[in-house]
This record gives sequence, C-alpha cells and structure tokens, in this order.
Amino acid sequence: MAFTRRSFLAGLIGCPLCAAAARAEGAHAHWSYEDPQDWGAHDAAAQACAIGAEQSPIDLTGAVKAEVHGPKLAWKPQAFEIVNNGHTIQANAAPGGSATLDGRKYELKQFHFHTPSEHAINGERRAMEAHFVHAHAEGDLLVLGVLMIGGAPNKAFSAIMDVAPKEEGKATLRAPIDAAALLPKTRKFYRYQGSLTTPPCSEVVNWNVFAAPASVADDDITAFKALFPMNARPLQALHRRVVLRN
Ligand SMILES: [Zn+2]
Repeated sequence: MAFTRRSFLAGLIGCPLCAAAARAEGAHAHWSYEDPQDWGAHDAAAQACAIGAEQSPIDLTGAVKAEVHGPKLAWKPQAFEIVNNGHTIQANAAPGGSATLDGRKYELKQFHFHTPSEHAINGERRAMEAHFVHAHAEGDLLVLGVLMIGGAPNKAFSAIMDVAPKEEGKATLRAPIDAAALLPKTRKFYRYQGSLTTPPCSEVVNWNVFAAPASVADDDITAFKALFPMNARPLQALHRRVVLRN
C-alpha cells in the first residue's frame, strides 16, 4: 500500500508548475474552499490532496531547534502584475528575483494571500498569510510564509489592495513596490517539507514560515476579506514529518 502510494505520488510531482501556470493563465477553477475534503476527488491529478502524507498547511508546534539558515533573498522592486484569479489576489513577478538555499537557486514567481492564515503557530491562526512562491528549474518549490496581523499599515500591501481587481482579472500597480517590505523584521522561522495548499496539492514545497507576523492596515485586511472572506485550507496532519526552527 505504502509503495503503491509512493509510486503514485512520484508521478504527480512531475510538473507542479504546469498546474500553477494553468492557474496563472486564468484556467477555470473547479475547486472551492467550501469542500476542501473533496479536492482529491475532482480530478486524478489532485489525488495528493486526499492521500498525501506531507500536506500543508500544518500547525507549527513541537518544532525542533536546529542550525537552519534562512534562504538568501535577491528580490528587486518592481511593478508586479496584480491578478484576481478567483481564489486569491496574486502578484506575478517579472523574471530576475530569487531565493538561494543550500546552494540551490529558486526563482521568485509570484506571491499571494490567504485569510485567515493557513499555518498556525502553537495552535493559533492569524488574520492573513502571504506566500512567496519560488521555483527551482528541477520543479521543486521554496515558499516563504508570512503571517499577517492588523496594526501599523504596510505600504506594499496597501498599494496592492488599492488596485486589486474586485472580480477575476488583472491590474497594474501605480508604482513599483519592494515585496521585502512585507517580511517581518526578525528572521526566525520554521521549516518543514510540505505541499501546495491548493489543488493539485503537490508535495514539492520546502516551507519556510516566519515566526513573527508582519503588520498591515486593518482597512486593507477588511478590503481583502470583502473579496475573499475565507480562502485558507484546513490544517493537515503532520504524520512522520519534523518541523525545524532556528
Ligand atoms: Zn498560498
């Protein structure tokens, strides 16, 4: 059984970016946050959602302290293309931004938002979460997660919400923004091996979730929730994985 499942999953991860690319192209959405337990049933390519043992998000608790170093970020301020894809507000990056971890270079593809936060820390979810998605040429992903709370405004998030399309479609930022402005000041984080949190739930993600939240304006959270009242997948079982923290 385990061998069969492993073989099956090996076949699924061949092209995680194909699905991501299809979504970026605006392919019609066949899944929703109303029935996350059924994601694996919608199509064969999303079977990992139902039977995967390394799914995300998770509750980040019981982490093991370790000598883990954060990825080295080389992002550039740019006028990201802002897309309402029916599931979230996403900022698509122009080529050139990267994150390097353990000698592997991943290209920044996009970042997007969830409400409430998808990951929990010691059982607690926050108002929102940003995911910065980087892809390696071999197909695996490095995603930075940032939990977000209401408080001091964040200019980058405000600039995005100022132009975010109310219905499916694209918009252009009024001026370039530095996505790094959305990262917390302290660089402590959790790391574990997991999956995309949307179909096809491919188990190809090296997750790096910051321990500290970033503060954004309450008004901007309200604006996001007006578009997407709830776009977070339920917490998944840890199974045999280990969560590291520095
Ligand atoms: Zn996400």
